[in-house]
Amino acid sequence: MSRSLSVLSDSICACARSLGFDLVGIAPVLPPAHALFFRWWLEQGFAGEMHYLLRTVDKRCDPQLMLPGAKSAVVVGLNYAPAVSPVTDDPTRAVFARYALGEDYHEVVTCKLQELLEFIRQRVGECQAKIGVDAAPVLERDLAWRAGLGWFGKNTMLINTRLGSYFFIGEILLDIELEYDQPAFGGCGTCTRCIEACPTGAIVAPYVLDASRCISYLTIELKGSIPECLRSLMGNRVFGCDICQEVCPFNQPRAHAPLRASPTREPAFAPREITLAPRLVDLLRMREEQFREAFRKSAVKRTKWRGLRRNVAVALGNSGDPFALPVLKEEAAAETDPVVREHLQWAIEQYATRHPSSRSS
Ligand code: SF4
Ligand code: SF4
Repeated sequence: MSRSLSVLSDSICACARSLGFDLVGIAPVLPPAHALFFRWWLEQGFAGEMHYLLRTVDKRCDPQLMLPGAKSAVVVGLNYAPAVSPVTDDPTRAVFARYALGEDYHEVVTCKLQELLEFIRQRVGECQAKIGVDAAPVLERDLAWRAGLGWFGKNTMLINTRLGSYFFIGEILLDIELEYDQPAFGGCGTCTRCIEACPTGAIVAPYVLDASRCISYLTIELKGSIPECLRSLMGNRVFGCDICQEVCPFNQPRAHAPLRASPTREPAFAPREITLAPRLVDLLRMREEQFREAFRKSAVKRTKWRGLRRNVAVALGNSGDPFALPVLKEEAAAETDPVVREHLQWAIEQYATRHPSSRSS
């Protein structure tokens, strides 16, 4: 490897760090090591209704289809762990996944990657490039593993031994050669905490996630009715789920690993008040205009107002909060969306099952 390539690669990594990225590595663009596994996983139906994964499977398994002539991938990680862990043990309050507490990460990470690409172009001149942040049809975790950012945990998350797993991944595919990092090395050992803690049994085997059972999928990706057999297992999680990360030892602060679950340095990810354990009834009373305003530039808008109402209805059904019943009845009577109405009625039915006298009230 020539010295100039090494200097260029080092300067790209230094620039990424100066832009605030917590992790950075460079990988050669090769067919993904997990491509066969990914195809098998899709065949099992574990993707549920995420049909876009099936439509883009060839692209995901061949980065050359994303960027013809791609040689290198600069892969970055941005820590999103909040300074204070969300309150999860009050069933009358909503829990949002950590990644959605502040501003939408797509925009934040993409902006930084655009700056990084500008830096690269200043150094090497015009080159072909493609930026991806979650939405691009690329097996991102595979690339990130190859670039040395982390290894696969049994919960299927990418884990960095020093930082944990609360970080976003983004990448720039480039048609230039760079100096490459080694793939990440590490593993879970005999730990099985995430598998045991998952409330819906979505981790069907180590490293295998049945996304169609995962609360993240149910609350965000699934647009229709949530299977009844899973509703009572969702607790008060209304947007995403972190349980399999919360229990992971690599996300527990340790004296010898001060970076683990250390708070993000990115101001845009500071939690908004609305995502910090809001009362479920308040979320249900929120009107569409208020939802748009409260979740402007937030990842939560992906589920849309009706999706959040559906999820909140399930959480209220699980909450047993006696003050919620009149609100549920009021909202169910006025609801025009059949899916949301059915979930509100399900929630009301949960009260009736718990307290048969509430049927007549
Ligand atoms: S995110 Fe939640 S539901 Fe999904 S696998 Fe992890 S613990 Fe299970
Ligand atoms: S909880 Fe244990 S088994 Fe699960 S990802 Fe973390 S270390 Fe691996």
